[in-house]
Amino acid sequence: MNPDIGADLGARALHVLETVFGYPAFRGQQGEIVEHVASGGDALVLMPTGGGKSLCYQIPALLRDGVGVVVSPLIALMQDQVDALEEVGVRAAFLNSTQSFEEAMRIERLVRSGEIDLVYVAPERLMTPRCLELFESSRISLFAIDEAHCVSQWGHDFRPEYIRLSILHERFPNVPRIALTATADQQTRAEIAHRLQLEDARQFVSSFDRPNIRYSIVEKTTGRKQLIDFISSEHPQDSGIVYCLSRKKVEETADFLNEHGIRAMAYHAGMEHTVRAANQARFLREENIVMVATIAFGMGIDKPDVRFVCHLDLPKSIEGYYQETGRAGRDGLPASAWMAYGLQDVVLQRRMIDESEADETFKRVLSMKLDAMLGLCETLSCRRMRLLDYFGERSGPCGNCDTCLVPPVSFDGTVPVQKLLSAIYRVDQRFAGGHVIDVLRGAQTERISQWHHDKLTVYGVGADRSEQEWRAILRQAIALGLVTVDHDAFSSLKLTDLARPVLKGEQKVQLRQYQKPVKAKRPSTSRSSYEETELSRDEQAIFDRLRSWRMGTAREHGVPAYVVFQDATLREIAKVKPSSIDQLRGVSGVGEKKLVSYGDEIVAIINEMS
Ligand code: ADP
Ligand code: ZN
Repeated sequence: MNPDIGADLGARALHVLETVFGYPAFRGQQGEIVEHVASGGDALVLMPTGGGKSLCYQIPALLRDGVGVVVSPLIALMQDQVDALEEVGVRAAFLNSTQSFEEAMRIERLVRSGEIDLVYVAPERLMTPRCLELFESSRISLFAIDEAHCVSQWGHDFRPEYIRLSILHERFPNVPRIALTATADQQTRAEIAHRLQLEDARQFVSSFDRPNIRYSIVEKTTGRKQLIDFISSEHPQDSGIVYCLSRKKVEETADFLNEHGIRAMAYHAGMEHTVRAANQARFLREENIVMVATIAFGMGIDKPDVRFVCHLDLPKSIEGYYQETGRAGRDGLPASAWMAYGLQDVVLQRRMIDESEADETFKRVLSMKLDAMLGLCETLSCRRMRLLDYFGERSGPCGNCDTCLVPPVSFDGTVPVQKLLSAIYRVDQRFAGGHVIDVLRGAQTERISQWHHDKLTVYGVGADRSEQEWRAILRQAIALGLVTVDHDAFSSLKLTDLARPVLKGEQKVQLRQYQKPVKAKRPSTSRSSYEETELSRDEQAIFDRLRSWRMGTAREHGVPAYVVFQDATLREIAKVKPSSIDQLRGVSGVGEKKLVSYGDEIVAIINEMS
């Protein structure tokens, strides 16, 4: 880009990072990756969401001669990505089906003449003879293959066009390629390397920890009501995502939030395409807004200031849960992953597996994934340790999850579980959870007298525990595989082979104590390994003022607010209170172009307020 900055690649990379993007230092492996690709090497990069993958190809593209080609399946987001680059003074454009022929011709000319640094293309576009010829007759600095897990036929984001990307290796043998993904597992990684012919590429695998995300999983009682309590006590002014299993529940939940004064929109695959796209665009642009969605909503949601991700239903696997919660806190500021989970979730997910069309082997895989997810929900130890362990990473207690902050109480649950198992057995394994709990608690219902269940020896032996407590015990018995829920019309409970040793007293069962829901309190951060620095009252006032300035500016320019400046940058400005352009230059996230565009306005706001 600028040849006289010095021959040392590392120094040049750092210079671009500072002057263009305004960041003082590379994060994690970014620096190494940038140097490797900038000097012509191929790379396979695995980094969690929010880890900072984009710079890994953007900076090499700026350091090398020619145009960097970014292959991405996310057509809807290309405009925002290009806007964000233009804001920092990088010459970027995209080629996709949303633009006119004339516009595409114009971009093609820029590519050919090298008057551009980066061009984004969808994979199907790239594979057209016209596009391949364009790139063959232009100078290409690198190919970046974003969301590279789309090449995996086993993953849920599979795109057939991605398979054909191996052609890049054959037709452009001298152009470095960098493939990037946030999908962690070994199998997907091997598949990407194989299908994209990147077996010889250097692999960069980052830690998958997201220390700024606080995980908590609570027992579901009222569900939606708990959600409102959570949002209004922890994140009243913030943007977030709420995941639900069904389309109907998505719409009902969005309505419910709106009725309670929380601005929310819905997103699911059954909605009309234009409405869906409009909601997504609104979510990306606005602040203080909640998206209620099925898992159809997600890939490439690059909004950095999503402060919370909630699950009102149990995800099918830890992979899914981690990917969805990973959309919180990309900007590195504190964020929450909150889930409410209950007996019904376990029953429903087990039934969905039983009733699915999949063959037995696949059902077993689904079952194992669900078991791992249940293990996370019921764990007595640190959630983050469990999560990272699942991805093969060892760690210690984190201090920033619910079980670390308020350690759950466990107790020897052998006797109550034995009572539960015998009750299921005594009613001939033909009744659902509700009835079994009624029998245990000695309730007087029509069904109990009709079946003479008040004559059973187990009748009333569990009267000392509340219905909620029994539900928690039953849920754990199902999670532990002692009990299954039949998918007959009655959802009757059945004992498994694992129940026998417990009934005979040969095996003890450790349970998690049911905790009466308490209003969430913000625990002090002193014990946590993740330090959140609060703004003082003055700083908060400056921050609020900057946010409203940002909103106006973003509207004027027709870009999302975070493209102007991210929260992290505004927070730092509020703390540093720069009274001159030079002081502002040192703030992380303020590069040269933004200094020119916005410097005077920011300094004026600061001076006016101090
Ligand atoms: P990913 O694509 O891996 O999810 P992004 O590339 O979108 O992550 O980066 C996530 C966030 O981190 C962005 O807000 C980006 O501006 C910020 N970021 C990336 N690298 C750095 C860095 N070296 N210093 C400070 N912030 C960074
Ligand atoms: Zn923890």
